[in-house]
Amino acid sequence: MREIETDYLVVGAGASGMAFVDALVTAADVDVVLVDRRHDPGGHWLNAYPFVRLHQPSANYGVNSRTLGHDQIDEAGLNAGFYERATAAEICAYFSRVLHEDLLPSGRVRFLGTTDYRGMDGDGHHLTSLLTGEETLVKVRRRFVDATYVESSIPSRHTPSFTVDPGVRLVPPNDLVDLDEPAGGFTVLGAGKTAMDTCNWLLDAGVDPEQIQWFRPRDPWLFDRRAMQPLDLVASYMRMQATWVAAAAQAEDGGDFARRLEADGIFLRIDAQEEPTMFRGATISSREIDALRTIDQVVRERRVLHIGTDRIVTDDGDLGAQRDQVYVDCTAPGVRATVPRPVFEGDRMTLQYVTIGIVPWSAATIGTVEARADDDAGKNRLCPPLTFTGQTADLLRISHAGMTGMAARASDADLNAWNEGSRLNPAAGAAQRLDDPQVQEAFAAVLTNLGPAMANLALRTGAEPLATA
Ligand SMILES: Cc1cc2nc3c(=O)[nH]c(=O)nc-3n(C[C@H](O)[C@H](O)[C@H](O)COP(=O)(O)OP(=O)(O)OC[C@H]3O[C@@H](n4cnc5c(N)ncnc54)[C@H](O)[C@@H]3O)c2cc1C
Repeated sequence: MREIETDYLVVGAGASGMAFVDALVTAADVDVVLVDRRHDPGGHWLNAYPFVRLHQPSANYGVNSRTLGHDQIDEAGLNAGFYERATAAEICAYFSRVLHEDLLPSGRVRFLGTTDYRGMDGDGHHLTSLLTGEETLVKVRRRFVDATYVESSIPSRHTPSFTVDPGVRLVPPNDLVDLDEPAGGFTVLGAGKTAMDTCNWLLDAGVDPEQIQWFRPRDPWLFDRRAMQPLDLVASYMRMQATWVAAAAQAEDGGDFARRLEADGIFLRIDAQEEPTMFRGATISSREIDALRTIDQVVRERRVLHIGTDRIVTDDGDLGAQRDQVYVDCTAPGVRATVPRPVFEGDRMTLQYVTIGIVPWSAATIGTVEARADDDAGKNRLCPPLTFTGQTADLLRISHAGMTGMAARASDADLNAWNEGSRLNPAAGAAQRLDDPQVQEAFAAVLTNLGPAMANLALRTGAEPLATA
């Protein structure tokens, strides 16, 4: 068995692992071994459906040290007026260049692809090459870093919870671009952003809305993309922050909070008649929502158990099925629900959300905090995790953790300066635009409402002091 030694063993080379390693080696002179089952960095994007794009602008995605895309505002299509969003292919090429042109040449990062992390024992951490079977024992001088905790669950890699009869055409969205023959219609299964992307892509490709049936058991709250714009449009992001803090000062529960954000143009829902119970932090434009609303055949509050050639069995009775349907499985949850756990715990770290909805910003923040001289209690105070369960009801708890962390980091001069200069922070540069009345107004509103918001959130959530190692 081969033996190697390193300061940090990072398992997972998706956006989390890459943004963390980039920030860590920028701030500290350390040695890192980065491991992934996949052959290259990029994580789930390597297996994403071909028509996927980032939900958010490329301007704030990737690693801190290298831009993704050209920070341009799109002029045409569903994203017109908003900052460009990378495709999966662009994201994969980007992460590959970060690894091969920046991290590996630094001489401080080694990458072991197609390698499975198998756990640890008294000897050290065990890796197995998925190509050769070669085993490697890793001795870690500082920390083991779990960059798989918020790993994405995607349709092309998951096993659906329902069964299908032979002859039923069930595909992940990936296969829609490669059908052998035309479909009589499409049945889209799932309530998340992948299902929305799939419906929008079908509509955009010319499929009649009447040819689409959508099993959407629950509805989600979604960020309006208009409110998530950085750089020259950062006033929109600052307005979102101000609205968020004001709503947090008043809201009685997660549903009330979400409706306040909707009233102020921050949250969207697909169907005005349905109260959304899901929140996974996804972003969409009102143009996409308008297109989705043209689909009338929506089946609600039923979970599919089995698809036969002439009937669909659900947990609330059977429905008829057409033989020539293509069923599109969009039921993988994407962002996985997690249980609370501190980020810094002795010889272990767990990468997770410490900002609302943005994985790379969270991971880079953690990497930067890790490079500091603090003990674990101090680092955990700066990085309280936002534990996503996917439920609207959790919005107040998530907000409390997010605002607690932001306030703690803002009161630390070095960390605040790092955050202000980070391309991953959508609010970066806002403080230099105080001549814009909208930005000025947003800062003033945040200052006015922050205290009442923290008090209200603590009261409503019964927030405990945050666990530290
Ligand atoms: C369709 C889609 C669009 C999204 N859009 C956005 C967006 O616009 N903005 C945003 O912030 N987030 C978005 N997300 C959320 C997404 O989860 C994050 O952006 C991010 O890509 C997740 O990165 P990750 O590294 O945490 O997980 P992953 O990309 O899943 O990477 C985890 C890696 O860990 C590896 N791994 C797991 N177990 C082991 C093991 N035992 N040994 C070795 N390797 C292992 C896996 O092979 C994988 O490569 C989107 C998610 C989806 C599904």
